Amino acid sequence: MFAIGTVPNIELAKTSGLICRRGVIVDDYLQTNDPNVFAIGEIAEFKGMLYGITAAAEQQAEIVAQYLNGAIAKYYTGSLLMNILKMHGTDLCSLGITECPDDPAYEEVVFIDKAKRYYKKCIIHNDRLVGAILIGDKNEFLEYRSLIESKTELSEKRLQLLRSGKTQEPVIGKLVCSCNNVGEGNLVNKINEGCKDHLQLCQLTGAGMGCGSCRPEVKQILEKTLDIKKEPSTSPQPQLV
Ligand SMILES: Cc1cc2nc3c(=O)[nH]c(=O)nc-3n(C[C@H](O)[C@H](O)[C@H](O)COP(=O)(O)OP(=O)(O)OC[C@H]3O[C@@H](n4cnc5c(N)ncnc54)[C@H](O)[C@@H]3O)c2cc1C
Repeated sequence: MFAIGTVPNIELAKTSGLICRRGVIVDDYLQTNDPNVFAIGEIAEFKGMLYGITAAAEQQAEIVAQYLNGAIAKYYTGSLLMNILKMHGTDLCSLGITECPDDPAYEEVVFIDKAKRYYKKCIIHNDRLVGAILIGDKNEFLEYRSLIESKTELSEKRLQLLRSGKTQEPVIGKLVCSCNNVGEGNLVNKINEGCKDHLQLCQLTGAGMGCGSCRPEVKQILEKTLDIKKEPSTSPQPQLV
């Protein structure tokens, strides 16, 4: 299976005088050659890269919003490429570099369990995880994402990388996040345990931490559940098990 990317529609940008290659060329603040025009999302070309994921569009939007508010200390440095195949019964995801460069500074560590139909590949550079592919079980997606984004030195963690054998909490209720397999019940349970913050709820459960498209639904569930909890006399405590 090959994912070959997308080609943005840049005719309008071109005829407006914006400098384009495959996309609209932007600088560290997502600004085009016209200072009044910014480009984010799939149309923006940053240092030769076009990012076809919603997480990148969100990160870019944040930089532009901060810049327009006068905060120039934070600038865009690129996004981590990550893809999760959303096909029922098939776990497949990739993060960062997926092919080991032909360079001795990079190492490839592969684990295959044919009986369990499980494959895991990690690419390491200077003792830091820079890419991974998980097939058959994507439980470690969030951990790997955090290791790559934080550029954590692996040291003895390297041994755990391939052998963590973690099991995930089963999906409870209606599936909300198909990237990280989180159900409505998993969210409600965390809220009942005391979580009241949207971002914290995402971090605790993993919902919204993949492509991010379910974050509005997570927020709705949080607000609805907190509202119900405010009226204990009229509504029963929501419980999904
Ligand atoms: C089938 C599919 C599945 C995907 N799955 C995932 C996924 O699982 N995870 C993930 O991270 N990403 C996924 N993506 C990619 C993700 O949707 C895009 O990266 C993201 O939507 C890009 O946001 P954007 O704002 O740049 O562009 P868009 O979301 O495409 O928004 C562009 C908007 O501009 C409007 N527009 C276009 N031309 C004009 C015009 N001339 N005047 C006015 N309006 C105009 C369009 O109607 C559209 O609303 C998927 C994409 C597709 C197509």
